[in-house]
Amino acid sequence: MPLPTVAIIGRPNVGKSTLFNRLVGKRLALVDDRPGVTRDRREGDAKLVGLEFRVIDTAGFEDEDPQSLPGRMRQQTEAAVREADAALFLVDAREGLTPLDEEIGRWLRVETTPVIVVANKAEGRSADSCICEAFKLGLGEPIAVSAGSRPSRGRTEICSVPRA
Ligand code: GDP
Repeated sequence: MPLPTVAIIGRPNVGKSTLFNRLVGKRLALVDDRPGVTRDRREGDAKLVGLEFRVIDTAGFEDEDPQSLPGRMRQQTEAAVREADAALFLVDAREGLTPLDEEIGRWLRVETTPVIVVANKAEGRSADSCICEAFKLGLGEPIAVSAGSRPSRGRTEICSVPRA
């Protein structure tokens, strides 16, 4: 039976690849480098608190204008989310919500795929207000993580992320 799939989405630089690497580690299973595919799509298997699932990293689909949601990013992100059993929507807990986060959030609210909002870079108290702000996305309670920190330094263990 195929593993359930979880797509990591969000605007550029919020930490999608970092989270993917933390979840998948060395278990990277497939890099799609078929000719004609606009960008490699990284997928790999993760095991966390007894759950096994396949993770899809959508980082790199957004190499056009970072202030807007360009066509190719939208298409690739939409495809990844629609194919997935759940989506992790990453925002940057240090920067707070941007117009692009809000645009992605508006789109996700009308999609049927279950979404978990993940406020990354949440190490340190300065992130608190941004974590609260992520409630405004209307997609449920955000989970604060620090994908880039070692567990001992991070405020939240990475294993608190996917409950899908
Ligand atoms: P992507 O464009 O969304 O895939 O983002 P990346 O994974 O490339 O990360 C963008 C930047 O954020 C890099 O410099 C990472 O080292 C940094 N980063 C990722 N996670 C964290 C984190 O938990 N805390 C901090 N402070 N930086 C992070």
